[in-house]
Amino acid sequence: MTTTLGSTGLILNEPFLWERDKKGRCGISLPRRDVPSVAPDSELAGDGPDFPDLSELDVIRHFTRLSQWNFGVDTGFYPLGSCTMKYNPKTNERQAALPGFGGSHPLLPVELSQGALKMIYDLERHLAEVTGLDCISLQPAAGAHGELAGMLIFHAYHKDKGKQRSKILIPDTAHGTNPASAALCGFKSIPVKSNDQGVLSPESVEALMDEDTAGIMVTNPNTLGLFEGNIKKVAEIVHAKGGLVYCDGANMNAIMGIVNLKKIGVDVMHLNLHKTFSTPHGGGGPGSGPVCVTKELEQFLPVPRVVKKDEEYVFEDDCPKSIGKLHTFYGNFSVLIKAYSYVLSMGADLKKASQYAVLNANYIKEKLKSVFHLPYDQPCMHECVFSDKNQAEYKVTTLDMAKRLMDYGFHPPTIYFPLVVHGAIMIEPTETESKETIDQFIEIMKEIAIEARENPEILHAAPVKPKCGRMDETGAARNPCLTG
Ligand SMILES: *Cc1c(COP(=O)(O)O)cnc(C)c1O
Repeated sequence: MTTTLGSTGLILNEPFLWERDKKGRCGISLPRRDVPSVAPDSELAGDGPDFPDLSELDVIRHFTRLSQWNFGVDTGFYPLGSCTMKYNPKTNERQAALPGFGGSHPLLPVELSQGALKMIYDLERHLAEVTGLDCISLQPAAGAHGELAGMLIFHAYHKDKGKQRSKILIPDTAHGTNPASAALCGFKSIPVKSNDQGVLSPESVEALMDEDTAGIMVTNPNTLGLFEGNIKKVAEIVHAKGGLVYCDGANMNAIMGIVNLKKIGVDVMHLNLHKTFSTPHGGGGPGSGPVCVTKELEQFLPVPRVVKKDEEYVFEDDCPKSIGKLHTFYGNFSVLIKAYSYVLSMGADLKKASQYAVLNANYIKEKLKSVFHLPYDQPCMHECVFSDKNQAEYKVTTLDMAKRLMDYGFHPPTIYFPLVVHGAIMIEPTETESKETIDQFIEIMKEIAIEARENPEILHAAPVKPKCGRMDETGAARNPCLTG
């Protein structure tokens, strides 16, 4: 019998605090007043708001229990593909909270902000080293915002060359935000089919690339978790026709310190600091999606830039070809500090982090491929993609298996994405999980595959242990019931 992490024994009902109201109960006890009152009680406070009367313990238990209803990386394994839900060392949060950073104000004059500006300047230099690209702006607030910055730079570049272009090539394995960002800049997306190995072939790019095409947007590693091995050849084809190459670098966790993006032909890319560089991802932000470019494209970066003049750090606004300002002040500063702290504390070990992330994903792929259908059976990067094809004969779907994982105490992986795999199950373990945790996950996935064969009804009803059972997903999102 497999030992499971899941249990239901101590999940209690949680009424509203108003429903726990007991007249006269109080959270504090103050000593009796020993000075005369200066005004009659009736003039002092009035009735006040209609708050419930509660003891301190009522309140503490209520909020502590609510905090435990939320699943997070701090509570368990979170193998959500395309998200890099790794554990972020708490020291990086601490550095971001240092009074000199936490208390600084963006409107302070530069003479009083030298430390903050140096941090921004140095982080740009470090990220330039990690990516191989020359110049960076830390302004964009998210991955998709970085893509928008990149597409605006494509647009500005072609305008500067004297002829605007109308199209952009986007492989079917690109992230969904890519065509959206291109459309926001007025480009028409031209889909490129990936080949049997799940990557771009130079021939398909050659067939579509022309002089009305601004360039290509490649997610690399792509959303199948595969490295675009033909990227150099693809870049040559695009460059030969005067186009630019964009790399969606949200999957940088697989290739830090291993791939030099400039050397493989990338002109513009973004990073997701809130995936790869120590800010937790999910929950609505704040995030950061730095945009990185070659020296040739530096003139188009957002303003202001932080530059070093003599020994002083200053803002540079005088950039006539800049795409303009993308965020108030200089982006989400606290996220930048965490990335800075992470990069400095890891140093050359960033490479090791990527190697472990890739090793862990390949380990899961090899251990589970006898049980789950593996559409692309080849070495993967930091995530692997299965499908529910083997379970179809028992009428068990990806959704059923994902729901069942909750009964065993694991957050489900990403499902039904990427779209190129029917019934996709996309697993990203990250480098921060131990072999024991990963082995336990593998064992549970195998157990679920046995259940699918022997007892599919259990999977159709899953999850049975969490507080809420199988929900109507659309209804739950549109008409959320927030009363617990
Ligand atoms: C997460 C992700 C994005 C979008 O990043 P956001 O910060 O959510 O806007 C873009 N591309 C890829 C490949 C991603 O994984």
